[in-house]
Amino acid sequence: MVSGVDYDFPPFRPPSEAGSILLRATRGCPWNRCAFCVMYKGMRFSRRPVEEIKRDIMVAMSIFGPRPTMFIGDSNSLVMKTEELVEVLRFARKVFPGLRRVTSYARAKTILHKPLDDLVALREAGLTRLHVGLETGDDQLLKYMCKGATAGEMVEAGRKAVEAGFELTEYVILGLGGKDGWKRHASETAKALNRINPTFIRVRTLVPIPGTPLYEKVASGEFKASSPLEVLKETRLLIEELNVSSWFLSDHVSNYLPVNGKLPDEKEDLLNFLDIHIDILESNPELGRGLLQPEHLRQRL
Ligand code: SF4
Repeated sequence: MVSGVDYDFPPFRPPSEAGSILLRATRGCPWNRCAFCVMYKGMRFSRRPVEEIKRDIMVAMSIFGPRPTMFIGDSNSLVMKTEELVEVLRFARKVFPGLRRVTSYARAKTILHKPLDDLVALREAGLTRLHVGLETGDDQLLKYMCKGATAGEMVEAGRKAVEAGFELTEYVILGLGGKDGWKRHASETAKALNRINPTFIRVRTLVPIPGTPLYEKVASGEFKASSPLEVLKETRLLIEELNVSSWFLSDHVSNYLPVNGKLPDEKEDLLNFLDIHIDILESNPELGRGLLQPEHLRQRL
């Protein structure tokens, strides 16, 4: 409720959508099983009726004003019937004629299940960018984290989204392989991203959250979380093995360092930046740790 106005805000949005109109088309996550994720736990997934979403679009004008970008939540709006989402997108464009970017989270499996023509129809109705959680390209790790898709399916879905004309963000979780699996996580993730060549690669760094299965595995000692030094080495290996023309962005509070740049042009700069911090962390851990995002801020998710 905003100033007496009834409006259903999506509870989460990507950091890059901080200035966007926030619209809720579904509630919760239809998968809701990833071992590291707490976002929609305790929330039953539901679809909102199109008329209700349209009413919110009209109310949105009074809340947000005529902004150029819109994010449609919650975790996987593409799970809606294509014709219903097209209707919502067209109506949003009518109410907000200045929209130049409309984005949504999307699960890889959902992209795979949609015919290419449906994806193109959504693109033509005004959905411009998809945010997909790859997390890792390591099949073993995808299974361990209950992501519900293989690396091959992730790649196929990403390529299909690009083919349909979407700008594509692929999210990666640094540290997801832990002490025992960071090298494989970095290399396999680079391989998957190389095959997708998304518009953006956005990294987040693992913070085990109470209430998640992964937190229990950390507490029992089954999963050994990476140290900051290992995370930086993993980031270095990932970037080194990337052969993409993507933006690499660390736009999240959980990350130790702001590693941001366009690949391949700024690859050497990013690697040098990481090397400097890796050297300092190895030679003077106290000084090196002071140069990284403090833990108390990383935990503020
Ligand atoms: S990471 Fe995404 S798909 Fe997995 S449970 Fe969380 S919101 Fe759902």
